[in-house]
Amino acid sequence: HGKTINIFSIASGHLYERFLKIMILSVLKNTRRPVKFWFIKNYLSPQFKDVIPLMAQEYGFEYELVTYKWPTWLHKQKEKQRIIWAYKILFLDVIFPLSLEKVIFVDADQIVRADMGELYDMDIKGRPLAYTPFCDNNKDMDGYRFWRQGFWKEHLRGKSYHISALYVVDLKKFRETAAGDNLRVFYETLSKDPNSLSNLDQDLPNYAQHTVPIFSLPQEWLWCESWCGNATKSKAKTIDLCNNPMTKEPKLQGARRIVSEWPDLDLEARQFTAKILGDELDVQEPTPLPNQS
Ligand code: UDP
Ligand code: CA
Repeated sequence: HGKTINIFSIASGHLYERFLKIMILSVLKNTRRPVKFWFIKNYLSPQFKDVIPLMAQEYGFEYELVTYKWPTWLHKQKEKQRIIWAYKILFLDVIFPLSLEKVIFVDADQIVRADMGELYDMDIKGRPLAYTPFCDNNKDMDGYRFWRQGFWKEHLRGKSYHISALYVVDLKKFRETAAGDNLRVFYETLSKDPNSLSNLDQDLPNYAQHTVPIFSLPQEWLWCESWCGNATKSKAKTIDLCNNPMTKEPKLQGARRIVSEWPDLDLEARQFTAKILGDELDVQEPTPLPNQS
């Protein structure tokens, strides 16, 4: 069977919880290894917290909910979206138990098509973080590749600008090299300017990579239609439903259009959820309730 694959994610709101269940199923269907999911508990709904233990039982995975109190001395974020982004990157050294040595972050709206064990075992050359560089084969998007000019081009000095939807954290290396402190220092300085870190969870590690080194993963680990284009789609090991700044297509619509297995995974997750919540209603309320879904 092999070593447990540890994966963490975060979700807020009905849509992203729906996506998260699909991500979970897609991971499990592509590996025979034990999997433990870690969820940042801050915004999870009571419904999700009811369903997840039963899903864990049914599909045979472990899970744990984790959080960390925002430090009083650290620049605060007010918008929910930005708080979520902050929890993706700012507290990696302190949010997990010390016994956890490696973890992979996976966006809730991602569909996995490969064995995550392969990524979990990959040699990331002593770097604390590993991310996939943005694809450059969808030329329609050249106008949106802001990292190829001006500030970012100068700052990156030949390094890649990476996408933050999937990344590996070597927690041992991360703690040893005080990567958390380094990232928080950069964050504290940059966040004073409201115009910087507009994609907080992505800009921060990319900015910090001269101090907190990033191993660049092979391109196939993160395919997303907006940036990659169809030529490389068949090689995709994961697909993120990343926002397309040009078309702004709604994610649900994109999911069905882009990912062939998505409708089946969604149906399976929704049926399971309905069964669980239905059973629960039966227990608490003997008279049938109107269907609210
Ligand atoms: N997220 C969430 N609720 C939201 C927005 C974002 O839970 O309303 C989380 C979720 O894990 C999501 C990640 O933040 O996958 C990144 O956001 P998103 O996938 O929308 O960004 P994109 O990939 O489109 O840039
Ligand atoms: Ca995403």
